[in-house]
Amino acid sequence: MKLLSIVVPCYNEEEVLPLFYEEITKVTSQMAETYPELDFEFLFINDGSKDKTLEIFRSLADQDRRVRYISFSRNFGKEAGMYAGLSNAKGDFVVVMDADLQHPPAFLPEMYSYVRNGEYDCATTRRTSRKGESKVRSWFAMKFYKIMNRISQTEIVDGAQDFRFMTRQMVDSILEMSEYNRFSKGIFSWVGFKVKYMPYENVERAKGTTSWSFWGLFRYSIEGIIAFSTAPLLVAIILGMISCCASLILFIIAIICASGGLALAGLITLIGGLDMICTGILGQYMAKTYLETKGRPIYIASETEESYRSKKAASGL
Ligand code: UDP
Ligand code: MG
Repeated sequence: MKLLSIVVPCYNEEEVLPLFYEEITKVTSQMAETYPELDFEFLFINDGSKDKTLEIFRSLADQDRRVRYISFSRNFGKEAGMYAGLSNAKGDFVVVMDADLQHPPAFLPEMYSYVRNGEYDCATTRRTSRKGESKVRSWFAMKFYKIMNRISQTEIVDGAQDFRFMTRQMVDSILEMSEYNRFSKGIFSWVGFKVKYMPYENVERAKGTTSWSFWGLFRYSIEGIIAFSTAPLLVAIILGMISCCASLILFIIAIICASGGLALAGLITLIGGLDMICTGILGQYMAKTYLETKGRPIYIASETEESYRSKKAASGL
């Protein structure tokens, strides 16, 4: 038998979870018929939700032995949720997907067909359109991929998603990257392996609202650049050199025209500004290094289906 772990990070998903569970069990029972060698486990992550997500996990664990969950002590972010899922999944194959049905469970059988015989190590969807997304957001996303792929050695495919069906080997490689600042789009691509991209049209969230604000996404993209490229450090050096040359020229002009006052003022602000940019860029890397050296845990679990079940058994319910 082969075990397929289905990892689902959830943050305030009470509205959509029952629907997700219904859909996913429908698809998995179909898969069990076509592929009798398959067993399933559902590994839900509660990323510090403020709604009834955890209560829903508990009741799913009550009715379905295949349901496992990890509940975080607070919100650690989706990256931490995926990491917790991957490191606790027991499957020979692991799939990571969103709870909101934007990653349609109906893709699973086809994904499995690519990975099953070792033809590919990973199957993932790639959206061909950004339908249902604001123009500004799409524009920034496009720019982000352009800049990222120009300055980083790790290629990040535009439209690639966190909906990934992977072999145990690939999952273990991802787990070997134990960095604290996790940028999954980069990590998935950095480990390599043979990846099958399946094109698909973007679908809207089934219920609930997205937890990504525009600034949240902006910060996340900066994170990605810092985590996978040191090019901004080079920008700092180049800017510094340009400003040195400029100041030299300005000095010469100031001496020739003998009207130093204004030139000097301009010069000071110019250098000050550049200095701040450079310090800022350096600071970004310093901050990341600082967090990495602390070796903090990526997440802290406060409850799992195991602790819940044994507590229930102990209280004789
Ligand atoms: N999510 C999470 N922690 C967070 C934010 C989101 O685990 O801090 C989960 C969320 O429950 C969902 C998935 O990550 O299953 C994608 O989130 P969302 O749909 O809000 O993002 P979008 O699809 O708009 O990119
Ligand atoms: Mg979504």
